[in-house]
Amino acid sequence: MALVVQKYGGTSVGDADRIRAVADHVSRTLDDGNEVVVVVSAMGKFTDDLMRLADDVSPMRPPRELDMLLTAGERISMALVCMALAARGVESASFTGSQAGIITDTDHTRAKILEIRPDRIREALDSGLVPVVAGFQGVSTDKDVTTLGRGGSDVTAVALAAALKADVCEIYTDVTGVFTADPRVVPRARRIAKVSFDEMMEISATGGRVLMLRSVELARRHGVPLHVRSSFTWEPGTWIVEEDPTMEEAVVSAITDDTSEAKITVGGVPDRPGVAARLFRELANRGINVDMIVQNTGANGMTDISFTVAKTDLDVSRDTCNQIKGDIGAADVTTDDNIGRVSIVGAGMKTSPGVTALMFETLYKHGINIEMISTSSIRISCVLRADRVADAVRYLHTAFGLDAIEF
Ligand code: ADP
Ligand code: ASP
Ligand code: MG
Repeated sequence: MALVVQKYGGTSVGDADRIRAVADHVSRTLDDGNEVVVVVSAMGKFTDDLMRLADDVSPMRPPRELDMLLTAGERISMALVCMALAARGVESASFTGSQAGIITDTDHTRAKILEIRPDRIREALDSGLVPVVAGFQGVSTDKDVTTLGRGGSDVTAVALAAALKADVCEIYTDVTGVFTADPRVVPRARRIAKVSFDEMMEISATGGRVLMLRSVELARRHGVPLHVRSSFTWEPGTWIVEEDPTMEEAVVSAITDDTSEAKITVGGVPDRPGVAARLFRELANRGINVDMIVQNTGANGMTDISFTVAKTDLDVSRDTCNQIKGDIGAADVTTDDNIGRVSIVGAGMKTSPGVTALMFETLYKHGINIEMISTSSIRISCVLRADRVADAVRYLHTAFGLDAIEF
């Protein structure tokens, strides 16, 4: 008997029909002789609606209260899924993150899981019940309700699969798997049957929101087999696997896009040791994650440092830079939230010369200016004007031969 953790995203539990379809699938999975643990997201865009409501009510959103509000979304889904299961004669029980033993740190709205004590989930399984767990939430070491960051139900599912030593963690969503690009941006994108953990981490880190980055990291660390698939067609999707050394690697597997970041430039800083250290220490102390960093070649002993942060962190980052401007001797701090990033990802690019040249030539051919560049051994990212990102993804998708062949 296999133990399967099934996570259903927002659209998969978006209305009464979808919830009934989920219950049917859980019931079929049981009939096939498996044990099932279900993890659910909030219905549709309910988390966004709650965020908007908070904005409408008050300019102040104490993080503890925001978490209390947002966790309500997943509670609704879990109870409704259990009701739909009951109608099919399947006995189940819903659990909040806290009841499921998901213990986190105290960093509200982006808490990290410290430990899972899945005793109640195991007991439920042992007594023949299907546990239905609210994704995206836990309880902190201070006993407060926390959330794990947007898209965090993926993390709940993988963490539970690891703690329960599940045979597979299935991520059900509104696309049939991981594609060569976001199918909403590139209609000719193709589903990838198998992708390595390394590549998936790069895809998730650069905008492919189909799996939250932390869930991929966690799955790799604990060896949890991940299967991303559709709750609309139920067909087999994409497996995230360890790289197979005997397999020929695709030079470029996917093109990603991301317009969720903004750029900050600290201009006219003295080109001497310690300036960057101070700047990024201050940002780190405020919990800001810095992504791309570019320091221009110094001239006359002065230089500029540009970096990108999530748009949601822009205000705090700008204030931080302005506060220490005097200390580090910077001339000015400017920001730009009209940027976007396009990235190409592929394990095979390590050994294939010419990939960077083809990327730059393709952008040049279409008159797209590159403002920043960053690379890893299996990724190249370029920052562009935000309004050129979608075009850039489509051009690169074609240039690297990823377009689906039409018959
Ligand atoms: P869920 O609510 O099920 O968690 P998400 O909206 O978080 O769903 O993730 C699924 C979405 O991710 C898809 O609808 C798709 O538009 C988007 N996406 C972005 N990049 C990719 C990609 N490379 N492959 C598949 N989907 C992608
Ligand atoms: N409902 C949460 C969100 O919208 C968590 C998730 O769906 O994974 O971010
Ligand atoms: Mg998601």
